[in-house]
Amino acid sequence: MEKFDVIVIGGGPAGLMAAGRAAEYGRNVLLIEKNRQPGEKLKLTGGGRCNITNAEFNTREFLSHFGDAAKFLYSPFSRFSVQDTFDFFAERGLPLIVEERKRAFPETEKSEDVIRVLETYLAENRAETRYGETVKKLLINEGEIAGIETNKGEIAAESIILATGGTSYKQTGSTGDGLNWLRDLGHTVHEATPDIVPLRVKEQWVKELLKSFRAPRLNRCGSPLKEQPAIKSPEPENCSAPISGFPARSF
Ligand SMILES: Cc1cc2nc3c(=O)[nH]c(=O)nc-3n(C[C@H](O)[C@H](O)[C@H](O)COP(=O)(O)OP(=O)(O)OC[C@H]3O[C@@H](n4cnc5c(N)ncnc54)[C@H](O)[C@@H]3O)c2cc1C
Repeated sequence: MEKFDVIVIGGGPAGLMAAGRAAEYGRNVLLIEKNRQPGEKLKLTGGGRCNITNAEFNTREFLSHFGDAAKFLYSPFSRFSVQDTFDFFAERGLPLIVEERKRAFPETEKSEDVIRVLETYLAENRAETRYGETVKKLLINEGEIAGIETNKGEIAAESIILATGGTSYKQTGSTGDGLNWLRDLGHTVHEATPDIVPLRVKEQWVKELLKSFRAPRLNRCGSPLKEQPAIKSPEPENCSAPISGFPARSF
């Protein structure tokens, strides 16, 4: 059976970065992505401009906006900080610019350029990529993950990195496969909750009230909200995470 040091499953930003870094450290790396090209969701980010990070260079202050997740994020951000992200892209010819609310974008304002930098990072470090190949399951040997089965065959690896993303915008390929595999293996997987999404309200008076304001606007949202009226602007979107645990009937 074919064998690699590291197999990375998923060619989103997390998978591309993980594969590039493992290859940079000299590992024999294979990245598998089921779409015909990597970064389908990344392409949509920031309206196609890619709001890549936030120019808050104090890690403690930066993470104070992440609620309970801050505890987990402190370790990775002390290994690779916001400043490291700025340096990583600047060194590869794509400096970041900072807009209001410290939002950072690539200078070219094109998410495709971020994908291009990440793909070049992999190529320069000789990580192998296979696009258009779907991982079907993890292969387990004596209680350890020993490899993967794809639609094209079995591949062994010393280490497997799951970077299959969450469950939003499934049409981009993020169908939650990795979470299902982990659940099947007996890991605890918390239910995903919406974050930075438009708020839907059923009360007519809220909609009437909103019409008298310029912002937030009452918009018609496309897929996946299927033409449901929703409040869509940064403020309600930013408060969608804290209230996502409330029962939907309250609104
Ligand atoms: C409309 C929109 C706008 C956004 N804007 C921003 C923004 O401006 N700034 C920001 O920071 N974030 C933004 N985000 C969030 C950001 O896109 C995600 O946080 C990011 O893409 C997550 O990266 P990831 O690599 O973890 O997962 P993903 O990008 O979801 O990548 C996972 C990859 O794994 C692949 N995969 C899944 N299962 C398999 C399998 N079985 N076999 C092979 N491959 C598989 C998928 O095809 C996918 O390509 C936005 C998201 C959306 C939907």
